[in-house]
Amino acid sequence: MSRPRTAVVGGGYAGALAAVRLAGRARERAAVTLLEPRVELVQRLRLHQLATGQRVRSYDLARLTGGRVENVRGRAVSIDPERGAVAFQRDGKLAELRCDQVLVAVGSGIDTESVPGVAERAHSLAGPGAALRLGEALRALPAGARVAVCGAGFTGIEAVAEIAGARPDLRLALVARGRIGAALSVVGEAELRARLARLGVELVDGERVAEVEPGALALASGSRLAADLVVWCGGFAAPPLARDSGLPVDGRGLLAVDRSLRSVGHADVLGAGDAAAIPDFANGARFRMTCQAGMPSGAHAADTALAAIRGESPRPFDFGYIHMPLSLGRRDGVIQWVDRADRPRERVLTGRLAAVYKELVTRSAPPSIAWERRLPGMLRWPSAGARAPARAAARSGPSARPSLMD
Ligand SMILES: Cc1cc2nc3c(=O)[nH]c(=O)nc-3n(C[C@H](O)[C@H](O)[C@H](O)COP(=O)(O)OP(=O)(O)OC[C@H]3O[C@@H](n4cnc5c(N)ncnc54)[C@H](O)[C@@H]3O)c2cc1C
Repeated sequence: MSRPRTAVVGGGYAGALAAVRLAGRARERAAVTLLEPRVELVQRLRLHQLATGQRVRSYDLARLTGGRVENVRGRAVSIDPERGAVAFQRDGKLAELRCDQVLVAVGSGIDTESVPGVAERAHSLAGPGAALRLGEALRALPAGARVAVCGAGFTGIEAVAEIAGARPDLRLALVARGRIGAALSVVGEAELRARLARLGVELVDGERVAEVEPGALALASGSRLAADLVVWCGGFAAPPLARDSGLPVDGRGLLAVDRSLRSVGHADVLGAGDAAAIPDFANGARFRMTCQAGMPSGAHAADTALAAIRGESPRPFDFGYIHMPLSLGRRDGVIQWVDRADRPRERVLTGRLAAVYKELVTRSAPPSIAWERRLPGMLRWPSAGARAPARAAARSGPSARPSLMD
């Protein structure tokens, strides 16, 4: 008798982890296929380092996920849950994968469409290729040239600080719609701003970019900001796969899932990581697109898939945040502690210790996949739990707080 097959689509942090966990826990009861166009795990957490010429260790996906997972190279173009089929492209040809369940973990992209001129004139950290192109462009800039990084979420902040460390001879501006650091506690915001200023970064708050023009940013306020190079970190975008497949999506285009991470329209389709619209926390806080939540969601989606194979009821995804870890180059950082619902606490960790902490967090992601392969079911994460509210005085609630992924 053939084993039920789960196709995990997308071999990033969430998908690779889901694949090894499901294959390891189900053993001979289920077959797992990982469909991913790339040979190596994309380390998105390190793309800003790649862009500044640093060596980033690579991990071969097939080795990382091991023999229990069948690795298929290809990019999914549509999912048909009725037929149990995933259509994918490889080397320009269309092929099909038959399966009983599909776990969608295709991550997110960078929104380069909403603002005119971005797609044509700005660089981004959309993937390793884009990061390497940005690196080349940065190296070609003469001393004194001005770089504008647009967007002050994780990506923008970490990118501008990394560029400042690699090219202190450039003039750098960080442009944000809101106030830079407003997602952090009062202390966290002050620390972040002081540290960026020390790196020579000009902080441009409350300015929306209306267009990226040749050599300048046209701002919605009417002013212009000269820029020899623009790095666009202005928000993550939903990948088109769920929408193109006619699966229910939320307002952002992310796969709409229930609390067990099953598609709200199709119980045999699951979602994890950035690609899934995980239901908000009980207090209304929204899941941020992070590896911190992405890997646990991958593990939980694997457990939900396993429950279906065993004919059991799935459990709701119970996850709580612990931190917002920001590196500011290789020697500095700001770690904002948060409560389980992602509200900043008063305390922060800064300086070299923060840089070491962030490095350890980043470094631990690929080995967590290897550990999960060796000891399936070992990944644990904090529960949303009933905890005392955070004491971050001037930051009232998550809905009042801009997202770090803005
Ligand atoms: C510069 C930068 C710094 C960041 N720093 C942090 C941080 O410090 N902490 C944190 O928690 N988060 C951070 N993030 C966010 C974090 O990287 C993402 O939230 C995380 O990568 C999401 O994991 P994922 O597996 O859902 O998606 P991804 O890691 O993006 O993986 C998605 C995978 O799906 C594949 N794929 C895409 N489309 C298809 C398709 N159609 N068919 C098959 N495969 C497909 C891709 O090739 C990729 O391998 C950062 C992001 C960036 C860009």
